[in-house]
Amino acid sequence: MANQAADRPRVGVYPGSFDPPTNGHLDIIRRATRVVNKLIVGVAVNPSKDALFTIGERVKIVEQEIAAIDHGLSGRVEVRAFEGLLMHYVRDVGATIIIRGLRAVTDFDYEFQMTGMNARLDPEIETVFLMASESHQFISSRMVKEIGVLGGNITSFVSAAVAKSLTARIAERQSSK
Ligand code: ADP
Repeated sequence: MANQAADRPRVGVYPGSFDPPTNGHLDIIRRATRVVNKLIVGVAVNPSKDALFTIGERVKIVEQEIAAIDHGLSGRVEVRAFEGLLMHYVRDVGATIIIRGLRAVTDFDYEFQMTGMNARLDPEIETVFLMASESHQFISSRMVKEIGVLGGNITSFVSAAVAKSLTARIAERQSSK
């Protein structure tokens, strides 16, 4: 008997805050396109997190970053804002795979719990973990923002365009205090 699931194009969702997207995120996006036929980068609205960039800005920045790393990827990768329960969103867009990036052991506990709970919510959806290359594994958006606020050099963690936007936004915030 033919395996119908194997014949369908594999659609994956890579969810996150992307505030801002780092070289680690871009590395995971590139790798994810080797695993799925179509990737939806789901930028979480996440009102509980105090984001530096608005949801509209984050979607636009991720789109620009993807176009900058590889024009060929743009056709297979879509960037969309999403709100609410991830599992509902994944179903709504017709995806069957969730992509998550794994950094060090610190990510593991949280991801382990979330994957277990998500599997209960919808056992037909698989979570696939990918690791960024060694040089990008330790990067986190939170640390990049912290270093940026303290005036440190962030150019090896994010693209030149993101570094520029981030520096400008931090300056804006600091001058309005
Ligand atoms: P969160 O807000 O949940 O931390 P992020 O937007 O920072 O989410 O990241 C989204 C996903 O990308 C998560 O699975 C996170 O583990 C992964 N990720 C972020 N940075 C890296 C990195 N440097 N290497 C590998 N995975 C990463």
